[in-house]
Amino acid sequence: MSSNIVAILYLVSALLFIFALRGLSHPESSRLGNIFGVVGMIIAIITTLMFKSVLSYVEIGSAILVGGAIGTFIALRIEMTALPQLVAAFHSLVGIAAVFVAAAAFYDPMAFGIGNIGSIGMSSLIEMSIGTFIGAITFSGSVLAFGKLQGTVSGKPIVFKFQHSINALILIFIIILIFLFVRNQSPTIFWSIVLVSIILGFLVVIPIGGADMPVVVSMLNSYSGWAACGIGFTLSNNLLIITGALVGASGAILSYIMSKGMNRSIISVVLGGFGGEQSSSSSSDNSDKVVKQGNAEDAAYVLKNADSVIIVPGYGMAVAQAQHALREMSDILKNEGINVRYAIHPVAGRMPGHMNVLLAEANVEYEEVLELEEINHDFPMTEVSFVIGANDVTNPAAKTDKSSPIYGMPILDVEKSQTVLFIKRSMATGYSGVDNELFYRDNTTMLFGDAKKMCEDIVKSLG
Ligand code: NDP
Repeated sequence: MSSNIVAILYLVSALLFIFALRGLSHPESSRLGNIFGVVGMIIAIITTLMFKSVLSYVEIGSAILVGGAIGTFIALRIEMTALPQLVAAFHSLVGIAAVFVAAAAFYDPMAFGIGNIGSIGMSSLIEMSIGTFIGAITFSGSVLAFGKLQGTVSGKPIVFKFQHSINALILIFIIILIFLFVRNQSPTIFWSIVLVSIILGFLVVIPIGGADMPVVVSMLNSYSGWAACGIGFTLSNNLLIITGALVGASGAILSYIMSKGMNRSIISVVLGGFGGEQSSSSSSDNSDKVVKQGNAEDAAYVLKNADSVIIVPGYGMAVAQAQHALREMSDILKNEGINVRYAIHPVAGRMPGHMNVLLAEANVEYEEVLELEEINHDFPMTEVSFVIGANDVTNPAAKTDKSSPIYGMPILDVEKSQTVLFIKRSMATGYSGVDNELFYRDNTTMLFGDAKKMCEDIVKSLG
């Protein structure tokens, strides 16, 4: 295939990827966005396979087959609630791939058209070392994020003195190593960059815990994009450069939006950790307090007699897959003339947009689903807040307790409504491990049980 045709087809793919991102920015256009992305990727893969320089289709085909089989197996088995750690695991693969591509180019520069061993061009060396650096950080940071999200590594922030200064010093050390590598082209220095970057990746993620992991996942997403962009430079592949930059930039924008939503500073996220000095558990002792308990019939009675209800879904709704039963319940209430809306916190669930996806799957109308800043001022005028499997995103400790790891995060002000109904199975804490004093308030009724079963029982009682 001539290089002009390749350039045109790559341009078409790049445009399709941009349309895909545009489409994915709104639930209504997201399916179309997805189709654009798939078509763009098919064109990109076929165009790449048509390169004159392809040496062996057997090797490429076998790799696609093995990788595709593993990917399909994982995709079929994975629970929706385990997607964040899967995403983190996949990011680590992008990171390590960037390191391997750079190593391949370094050890066999002629195959990449960038010179001979020991006399690689300076710009290629700079691209190679930056790609290696970002790739190695992405790799180790993602492995640790995977462990934290999966629960194999403690999710608690690990903090020590001078953490930021140490990270900054290591960063300066890496810059010096890159400088030496560009001058000497030494394999020892190349692998030193890899090793020290891997250490930095761990150090950037270990102080992050509690409710702040979403920002890290999105930041690693951005890093993986830049790592892919780096591979694009090494391979002189324009489409990979564009695609990597799109992923890198969109991940960075998402990290920024999430940091803002969580009231965290993006700079400290990038430097590794924030709020780490704070203790990881709430200082309040609620052991001797009592909670008011209710059942499905009580909840049905309260809901039926309300004028307005705000539903606050959280991670527990995803675990229970309660969205369909919940929608059935809200349909009955709407038919009774009750104003029912949904309030979505930016980090509810375990991945960005988690709740929106589940509610869309249950065909909840988009205009009933409102973001935190659109609905938070309505809680004082609302009779019932129906909190289903959410916890951290409603915890007022974020506003009042400076020692809390979620301090500063905006929360949904459910306690300002007349009555709060909480569906959860026990008094257990949420993801950040912080007790929620709302459970003990006079206007709160706890509905203990699985979220789906409880909604089904409420539907029966309403009928
Ligand atoms: P939380 O993790 O704070 O709370 C979820 C609650 O759901 C738990 O307290 C649990 O209580 C309850 N629950 C679990 N299973 C069920 C079930 N089957 N039926 C009923 N209830 C159930 O969730 P939130 O959505 O409020 O907050 C999200 C948290 O996750 C935040 O801290 C956020 O920072 C963090 N996070 C978010 C990510 C994102 O991108 N959105 C990514 C990573 C972390 P019980 O066990 O008693 O039932």
